[in-house]
Order: sequence, then C-alpha cells, then structure tokens
Amino acid sequence: MQVKTQRDEMENYLTDASNLPGGFSDKLYIPETRTEIADILKEANAQKIPVTVSGARTGTVGGAIPFGGCIVSLEKFNRIKEINDKFAVVESGVILTDLQKAVEAKKLFYPPDPTEWSCQIGGTVATNASGARSFKYGATRKFVRRIELVLPNGDFLNLKRGEVFSKDGFIEITAENGNVTKAKLPTYDLPNVRKNAAGYFSAAMTDAIDLFVGSEGTLGVITEIELGLSKKPAGFLSGIIFFKVEKDLLNFVDEARRISFETRKLNAESLANANRQTAVAPTIDAALLEYFDENSLKFIKEKFPETPENMGGAIFFEQETDAETEDELFEQWNDLLEKHHAEIDASWFTTSESDLIKMREFRHALPVSVNEKVVKNKQRKIGTDMAVPDECFASFLRFYKQKLNESNLDYVIFGHIGDNHLHANILPKNEAEAVTAKHLYGRFIAQAIMLGGTVSAEHGIGKLKSKYLYVQHGERYLNEMAELKRAFDPHGILGRGNMFDAKFL
Ligand SMILES: Cc1cc2nc3c(=O)[nH]c(=O)nc-3n(C[C@H](O)[C@H](O)[C@H](O)COP(=O)(O)OP(=O)(O)OC[C@H]3O[C@@H](n4cnc5c(N)ncnc54)[C@H](O)[C@@H]3O)c2cc1C
Repeated sequence: MQVKTQRDEMENYLTDASNLPGGFSDKLYIPETRTEIADILKEANAQKIPVTVSGARTGTVGGAIPFGGCIVSLEKFNRIKEINDKFAVVESGVILTDLQKAVEAKKLFYPPDPTEWSCQIGGTVATNASGARSFKYGATRKFVRRIELVLPNGDFLNLKRGEVFSKDGFIEITAENGNVTKAKLPTYDLPNVRKNAAGYFSAAMTDAIDLFVGSEGTLGVITEIELGLSKKPAGFLSGIIFFKVEKDLLNFVDEARRISFETRKLNAESLANANRQTAVAPTIDAALLEYFDENSLKFIKEKFPETPENMGGAIFFEQETDAETEDELFEQWNDLLEKHHAEIDASWFTTSESDLIKMREFRHALPVSVNEKVVKNKQRKIGTDMAVPDECFASFLRFYKQKLNESNLDYVIFGHIGDNHLHANILPKNEAEAVTAKHLYGRFIAQAIMLGGTVSAEHGIGKLKSKYLYVQHGERYLNEMAELKRAFDPHGILGRGNMFDAKFL
C-alpha cells in the first residue's frame, strides 16, 4: 500500500469536477487489498479521524473532496474479475470506459451511461449514477446484483440482491464475521420523479444493497461489485433532430415518450405471456431522449461547426434496431417528426456505429465545454440537477427560461428530457454574476420542491448540496438519515460533510 503525506503528492485528490476549493488532508492511502482498507478504517474509527473515499473524482458535488482526515483511493482496485453472459464482477476502481470496452468485446451490454466515462464503477454505485440511457434502462442501482464493502469498524459485508430486506422499518445486516448491524430506516416517501439521487434510498421493503447504492461514501467503502449485463442490441437508430419552434419540440417529446411507454408495456405483457408466439410489431421505443436548448446549440457550434443555425432546440434520440426493423422504425420516427414540424432536412440520422459515437461526442462535448468555459472565467459552474413529476415538467422549463432570460446571465439548458430532468447551467463571467446565479439557483430549488420534485436527480448531494437536501426533507428526515448513518458509522468518520452537516451526527 502506498501512503502519501506531502501536499504536492495528493494535490489531485483534493478536488473533483465541482472545482469546490479548500480541500485538504493529512494522509492519502492507496490500498491494494480489502484487509488494508479494513485496517485503515479500524484505526480511523478508533481515533475518530475522518475518511474520504476517492474514486475518479469526476463527481460534480464535492463528495470526494476531503476537508481534513485521510483519503482512501480505490485506484488499485482495478481488476475486471469475470465477465459472462449474465454479469460482470469488477473491483470498484475499474474505470467505466475499461468495463465498457471489455463488455463490448464480448458483444454484451452494460447500459448505465453517466456521460463522463472516466469515472470508477465504485463511484457510479456510490452515486447511483444515471444518464441519457436511463430513460429506457434505469440508473446504476438496477444493475447492481451484489456488492462487497468494508464498514467503518473494519467488518466486511458481501450483499446479494434479494437476500436481505427491511422489515417493520428496520434492517439487520450480517457481516462476514457474524457481527450484526441493526438500523432503523428513514420513513420519508421518495419524490414522485423518474430519477432521484437525493439522500438514502427508502422503500417499504428495502433491499440491503439499495441502502449502499447512492450512499455517497458515507456508509461503507465499496470494494467489489457484480453488475447485470445483457446481450448487445443488434444496432441503434439514432438522430439529432433540430426544431425551429420549441413548442413543436416539446410536443414531439411528449408523443415519443408516450408511445415508448406504451411499447414497453406491450413488450412486457408479451414477455409475461406464457404463449410467446405473440410477436409485437416494431414500434417507437426510445432508449434515450436528450434535449439541447437554443443556447446549447450556439455554444456547441464552436466545437461542431456543422450544427445548423437559427434553431430553437434539438433532440437526440436512440432506439434499438436490427436489420429487419430498421426501415420500419425509421419510417415511424420520420412520420412523428414530420407531424411535429421538425427540420428534417437539417437533422442527422444514423444506424452506423461510428456516426453514433460522433453523436454521443456531440452530447458529451456540451458539459465538458461548459466546465472549460467557467474555469476560463475563473468561476464555478452553477448547474441544476433537479427533476420534477411528469405533469409539472413543461411549467418548470418555462420557469427556468423566464428567470434566466430576465437575469441576462449566460446559460445553456440541456439533458435528460425523457426523464423530466434538465441541467440548467449558468456561466457567470464575474463575481457579481456568480452571486446572481446562486440566488437564481435557490429559486429553482424552491420551485422544484414546491412541484414535488427532487433537488438532485443524478449528481447526488455531496458537500455542495447538503443545505438543499435539508430544504427538501426537513429536520426530521435528516435526523432519520443521520440515525441510519450512525448505525453503521457511530463516529461519523466516513464521507464527513457529504449529504448532511456534522451537526446531525
Ligand atoms: C462532464 C461530466 C458529465 C457528467 N454526467 C453525469 C451524468 O450524466 N450522470 C451522472 O450520474 N453523473 C454524471 N457526472 C458525475 C460523475 O461522473 C458521476 O457521479 C460518477 O459516478 C462519479 O464517479 P467517480 O469515480 O468519479 O466518483 P468520485 O467523484 O470520486 O466520488 C463520488 C462519490 O462517491 C464516493 N465513492 C467513490 N468511490 C467509492 C467507493 N468505492 N466506495 C464508497 N464510496 C465511493 C465518494 O466518496 C464521493 O462521495 C458527470 C461528470 C462530469 C465531469
């Protein structure tokens, strides 16, 4: 195990994609075995020293930034141990790109796609990462079949999905050495949104695994994960479709989404039907529906000059196809686009894998360029991550635009429109604009909560958004979350400052 104590040796570990300043730490551990992790944690627990778990630090809310104590980096836990037709077993420090390449080479499919593929699998589990394709396939949680963790007292857990559930509001989890942790679960209802990454998971029957997925390094150090895989789809039909009028774009999304849900329902019924003879005719069933507002298109034109001008917005869609369904599905998408007055001649369609990669690069380039721009302005990005219930989405988008246009700040809005989850990114040019942007951010949070939404749909709470988790849940439920944490981490050493303030512990 490497141990580093000099600031210049750990500089990279003191920040993440949030650019939150001020991180500091006494010691960086780079362990190679889970026993080494257990020893670090036992020692830290005995001396009440904070421990920050560090993945690839692509997180945008400061979760991996230490403010004192030590850092445990999982970078040496980088082995892909097994890949078969049904699942992959990986150590938690495996980089998502490496897993995707290995899975792809076996013609298999691992859908979670949190845009930034340099993250570690452990980080994606700790944040329940999701992304564009979550619209059809769901967030990381859905793919976690088993996890191994080290608890703050050094005990090892090996949890399989479906084996341990909560009962009457409590859960009992047995470590490999037979020690039992009994924890009371929070009693809040999760918001009625398609994606949520705000606070601990809670359901009437909570699977033990789900407590740790999305726990942002506050309950245990994840060391190994078994992830569900499926067969790689034969192909994808994809398009980036431009619209002059935003109302047309929104109507198109509504209808594409409605048809996709109907198709999925029919497919599920057909699968459940014992007589599998009932073939379902190929119909629109989007894997992703991503949005770019007018400003995003102007912004992205710097990197992709072929982007057409004077457009009101664009939608990126993908759908699984094969040689038999490709033409029929193309016709159906085309009809729907014509109906909603899309600029079809200016739009881009493909079924080729190389063009699809370019389309994904187009999508990825946007958050990356936004980050570069704010860093150039010596500012921090103010980016929203809220999601609201279906019926409130259109009014929430109007609210964003009205307030942002009134503010005269530079902004782009893009993201996961299929899940009612857009990122409004404000790009302040100076301190005064940063103050206005933060004020606006608070207004957006208040509006999302008022509409029954979540303050974080995918990036998590980390250190940047704990005050908003408080606004969403209030004192009582934050105390319940803290009670759950104390059951696993009585001295509050792990991920200190993530999710809630130390005052709750
Ligand atoms: C350009 C860009 C686009 C992005 N787009 C998306 C997106 O579409 N969807 C999305 O969900 N996210 C997105 N993200 C955020 C980020 O990529 C994800 O949150 C990612 O899952 C974080 O993984 P990481 O390894 O970098 O974790 P880190 O940033 O290192 O850590 C994140 C949190 O997880 C904890 N943690 C990390 N590893 C472990 C472990 N082994 N055990 C216990 N706790 C651990 C840390 O303590 C921290 O609290 C984006 C980021 C960038 C920069």
